[in-house]
Amino acid sequence: MSDFHERYEMVIGLEVHVQLKTNTKAFCRCSTNFGDSPNSNTCPVCLALPGALPVLNARAVDLAVRAALSLGCVVNHRSIFARKNYFYPDLPKGYQISQADQPLALQGSVALPDGRRIALTRIHMEEDAGKSVHDRYEGFTAIDLNRAGVPLIEIVSEPELRSSADAGAYLRALKEILLFAEVSDCSMEEGSLRVDANVSARPYGQAEFNTRTEVKNVNSFSNVERALELEFARHCAVHDEGGTVIQQTMLFDAAADQVRAARSKEGSHDYRYFPEPDLPPLVLSESFVQGIKDALPEFPSSRRARYTSSFGLAAGDVEVLTATRAVGDWFEAVVARCGDGKLAANWVMGDVLATLNESGGHIAEFPVAPSQLGDLIAMIKADAISTTAGRKVFVAMVKDGGEPKAIAETLGLLQVGDDSALESWIDEVMAELPGEAARFAAGERKLQGVLIGAVMKKSGGRADPKKLAQMLGKRAGG
Ligand code: ADP
Ligand code: MG
Ligand code: ZN
Repeated sequence: MSDFHERYEMVIGLEVHVQLKTNTKAFCRCSTNFGDSPNSNTCPVCLALPGALPVLNARAVDLAVRAALSLGCVVNHRSIFARKNYFYPDLPKGYQISQADQPLALQGSVALPDGRRIALTRIHMEEDAGKSVHDRYEGFTAIDLNRAGVPLIEIVSEPELRSSADAGAYLRALKEILLFAEVSDCSMEEGSLRVDANVSARPYGQAEFNTRTEVKNVNSFSNVERALELEFARHCAVHDEGGTVIQQTMLFDAAADQVRAARSKEGSHDYRYFPEPDLPPLVLSESFVQGIKDALPEFPSSRRARYTSSFGLAAGDVEVLTATRAVGDWFEAVVARCGDGKLAANWVMGDVLATLNESGGHIAEFPVAPSQLGDLIAMIKADAISTTAGRKVFVAMVKDGGEPKAIAETLGLLQVGDDSALESWIDEVMAELPGEAARFAAGERKLQGVLIGAVMKKSGGRADPKKLAQMLGKRAGG
């Protein structure tokens, strides 16, 4: 196979279907809840009963536009729903409502980690079909229409990916953006993100593309990469033998580690698209689109750049803190409170995320609020409490909740910077260690550490070490 890679270039374009995060379907009010009992979320519209009419879900439009803008697309102010006609048992209408030559959005791109930008061709809205269930009744196929009419967008890339690793990187970057934009759960397991991978092979130096095939039925990003490698190798072997690749749909069989032709020749479909007569054109005003644009979150790449430049964090730390939008938002709320990006980063990574790793929870449910951790860090910075004592307070906050100041008081951990209290501890220590005290007074400055240690111990860790050092320095005559 590696031999093929030396002689043939891989050409890949991906079509990604993403389920929009709505509560109800695209054209009716049925629930989109995953895992409900088969056919319970259906109505005359999504069952395609005669006379039922679709009504477009406004929330689906919001999310589709948000996705398009997040990917840098140009949103068309007028797009047209079209009927994509085909027969399939899980498609009761006999057509799918989609968009054809006037889609929701054009252009846009997805940046790969190495900086290359993969251009998008288009994003259009459509509805999902139902599901054929082949393994429920022996000898029969069952149909579940809960998914019929669920709102999707299809994101089509230009054939600019050049390796299976490129395809994986593209999918990961795309998913990250869609998750940040909160337009979809992007779960391949639940079918809310599905990939059709188009691939062809051409000899290096050849300008035009060869015939492609489309691999479907792939359930993870790493399987997309695997399926592409297998299909690419098949193409190369065909080309080597002087044969022709037939444009067709292939299915990936993960268990058999094989790609094989689908029984139906989807490539030969003629969908006879025509404008959906039951829906008016989708017209979006400039101000509507601008409003969604203004509300976009900051995306991972610019967030990473900002964490590096404003907080001076190392690349690895930045990765951890921007891994999800929730973690980044949480971290920033801590910084907003304590004003120290570096300290906040240390606490969030070392204490908060470490605790979460053990418990396996989500940061949104973490028992300590970011403002509370921010207050704790601010106390440490102001020397109201030592770092070691701060850790004890944090543990107590995780366990029982509460405000850091109150906990520090209850646990007797507030640092004592009061002159007379420090003086009397110093006096006691000097009395207990007369030898050291005399040598220190005679100028042996290195004993200061010993004396500070003794005072810290006596104070139960509460003495303010900085102030202590100043006072001892004065006693030593300078
Ligand atoms: P369809 O809608 O029939 O699937 P499209 O023209 O929309 O066809 O293309 C689908 C995908 O195939 C796009 O992502 C595109 O980049 C990709 N593609 C097109 N031609 C090739 C090719 N020769 N090799 C690899 N991918 C291709
Ligand atoms: Mg296709
Ligand atoms: Zn319905």
